[in-house]
Amino acid sequence: MTARERARFAAANPKSERLAEEAKASLFGGVPMHWMADWPTPFPLFVAEASGARFKDVDGHDYVDFCLGDTGAMFGHAPPPVAAAIREQAARGYTTMLPGEDAVWVGNELKRRFGLPYWQVAATATDANRYALRWARAVTGRDRILVFDGCYHGTVEETMVRLEGGKAVPRPGQLGPVTDVEKTTRVVAFNDVAALEKALAPGDIAAVLAEPAMTNIGMVLPDAGFHDALRDLTRKAGTLLIIDETHTISTGPGGWTRAFGLAPDIFVLGKPVAGGIPCAVFGVSADVARRMEAARAKASAGGHGHSGMGTTLSANAFAMHAMRANLKNVMTDEAFAHMILLAERLSAGLERVIAAKGLPWSVTQIGARCEFQFCEKPPRSGREAEAAFHDSLEKCIHLALLNRGVMITPFHNMTLMCPQTQAPDVDHLVGALGDVIDEIRNA
Ligand code: PMP
Repeated sequence: MTARERARFAAANPKSERLAEEAKASLFGGVPMHWMADWPTPFPLFVAEASGARFKDVDGHDYVDFCLGDTGAMFGHAPPPVAAAIREQAARGYTTMLPGEDAVWVGNELKRRFGLPYWQVAATATDANRYALRWARAVTGRDRILVFDGCYHGTVEETMVRLEGGKAVPRPGQLGPVTDVEKTTRVVAFNDVAALEKALAPGDIAAVLAEPAMTNIGMVLPDAGFHDALRDLTRKAGTLLIIDETHTISTGPGGWTRAFGLAPDIFVLGKPVAGGIPCAVFGVSADVARRMEAARAKASAGGHGHSGMGTTLSANAFAMHAMRANLKNVMTDEAFAHMILLAERLSAGLERVIAAKGLPWSVTQIGARCEFQFCEKPPRSGREAEAAFHDSLEKCIHLALLNRGVMITPFHNMTLMCPQTQAPDVDHLVGALGDVIDEIRNA
C-alpha cells in the first residue's frame, strides 16, 4: 500500500519533484531545514501558499491542514489581523534592539491572560525553554534539572534525554551532543509520583520542566492529582516548576495553566503566540523575578549581553507588533470555542471509525487538539505511548491522507483545529481515514 501511495504521490506532484531535484544542487538534503525532508513522501511537498485552514501545493492541489505548521499556525495561516499588523510594521522598521509601545501592551496582556506578573520575549520556544532553565539554575544555585521521559521542549540539549535503568541517557538520533546528561538531568516517567518524590528528595534540582500533558510522544494526559503532587513536591524541594504550554495552549485562551489552576514559577509559550511569526514568551512569578534581579546584580560585569541568554533579533518590532495583533484579535475566547467544538467532533468521529473497524486504538483530546494512538487504552507514560508506535503503519496513513487532500502532523497522529477549520473539513478527515484503513486491510 505504501509503495502504491508513493507512486500516486510522485505521479500527482511533478512540479514538487522538479523543485526537489533542483534544490539538491544548493541546499543540504534538498531542503532549507533538514526536518523538512522527514515526511513520508518520496520527495518534499513544495507549498505555493497557505491561508486559514488550507494550503495549496505548487502542483495546484488543495489540502485541509490539521498540522498547521506543528502549531506555529494554530490560529490559521496568515490570520488577517496579524497580516494587517505585519503590513503596518513593514513600513516602520523591524529591528532596533529597543522596545516600543507594543512591548507595554503585550506585557500587560500576558500578565492578565496567564497570571504571571513579569515577562520576557524570545525568538523560539526552544530559546525560551533554554533561558527559563538557565534563570532557574542562576536563581537556585543548583545545576540539575528534571524532565519527564519522552518529553520534547525544543533542541535544548539537557532535555534531549530518555530514561534507561533509572538514569538519563542521551536521546538517540542526536548529532554532535556534548552534554553529560547524567550530570545535568534527572528523568522520571510522567504520572509516577513516587519516582518524582525520590528524584527531588536530594534537593539538588533547580527546576522541573514539564508540559502539563505530554504532546510530543503521542499524547499522555496527567492522572487526577498529578499536578497537585508535582506542585507540592517541587515546592517542598525548593525546585522551580516550569510549565511549557507551547502545545497545550490548545486547551483554551489561558492554556492548561488557567483552565486547571496550575501555579508555575515560570510559564513558557512559543510557536503560535505571534500568529506564526518567530516569537516566544516566558513569564515568571514575583518571587522568581526578585531572585533574578539578585542573580543579575551578583553576576554583573556591566551587562553587555553576556548572560548566556537572549539573541539579537529577540523581541524585534515585527514580532512584537504581530504578537499584539494576535493576542488582541486572533487568540480570542470565540476562536477557542469554535476550535474546541470541532476537536470534539473529530474525537467523536475518530472513535466512531475505530469502533466500526474494530481497531485497538484510542483517542485523546486536549482542547483544540486531538490524537489517535495505536493502543487500546490511552497511555499514562512516555514509554507506554512509545510502545504503541508503529512506524510503517503511521507513515502509510499519513501519506495516504495527503494523497486524499488532508495533512496531519508528522511523527505521530496529532491533529489541530484552527479558527477557519469547518465541520466538513473534519468529516473529510474522518471519512478519508476510514477509507485508508479499509485499503490497508485489503492491501
Ligand atoms: N516546547 C514544546 C512543548 C514543543 O512541542 C516544541 C516543538 N515541538 C518546542 C518547545 C520547541 O519549539 P520550537 O521548535 O519552535 O523552538
